Amino acid sequence: MKRVRLVMFGRQGAGKGTQSKALARHYGAPHISTGDMLRDAANDGSAVGLKAKEYLDAGKLLPDAVMLDVIGERLERDDVVANGFLLDGFPRTLPQAEALLDLTPVDVAVNLEVPESLVIARISGRRICRSCGAIYSTADPPADDWTCNVCGGDVVQRDDDTPDAVAARLEAYAEKTLPAVAWFAERGLLVVVDGVGATEVVTDRLVSAIDGRLAHVGG
Ligand code: AMP
Repeated sequence: MKRVRLVMFGRQGAGKGTQSKALARHYGAPHISTGDMLRDAANDGSAVGLKAKEYLDAGKLLPDAVMLDVIGERLERDDVVANGFLLDGFPRTLPQAEALLDLTPVDVAVNLEVPESLVIARISGRRICRSCGAIYSTADPPADDWTCNVCGGDVVQRDDDTPDAVAARLEAYAEKTLPAVAWFAERGLLVVVDGVGATEVVTDRLVSAIDGRLAHVGG
């Protein structure tokens, strides 16, 4: 299979993480979630991780320069060189978008659209495995008492899924990330996909939209 280079946009609670994992499996590309990378750093308790945790818990974006270091290093690794990437959570600002396209071409950027009224309800029910990042919800819990089906880790609510942090993240998305989404659209790289519906239905919709675009760019 040809390697693909995908970017996923979507406001918090749109199902971006769940769908990114499914798409990464489908296309055989590494799933690169900057949120997961930062949460791992925060959990390991290093000085950098503790600093990152302050931003995470407040729902604030980390400085662009920090994120560019994180992503620049990640994109140089062998798995990305061989298999492309699915970026989940990066870029989140216009300067990050510009810097990304200086580092690498992108085949398709996807905007997973879900109305704000729906995402707030979804976020309050969201649960995540502290160890591997697998995503669950109160409506769809792990089989065994909040123990992850995948790795046996503890399944908990994210520290930044509090009402204040959620509000800050939605505001950051509207102010900082939507201009980056528009920037990809101006370059003809964006497809918009309706994120409302059952998980598998939305995954199928995403695959059709992405395949359509890959065929169009000769992928
Ligand atoms: P996510 O898991 O994608 O919702 O990201 C969780 C948090 O990580 C965000 O609210 C930010 O604090 C931080 N973060 C993740 N990606 C970025 C990024 N590209 N730029 C700045 N901050 C980020």
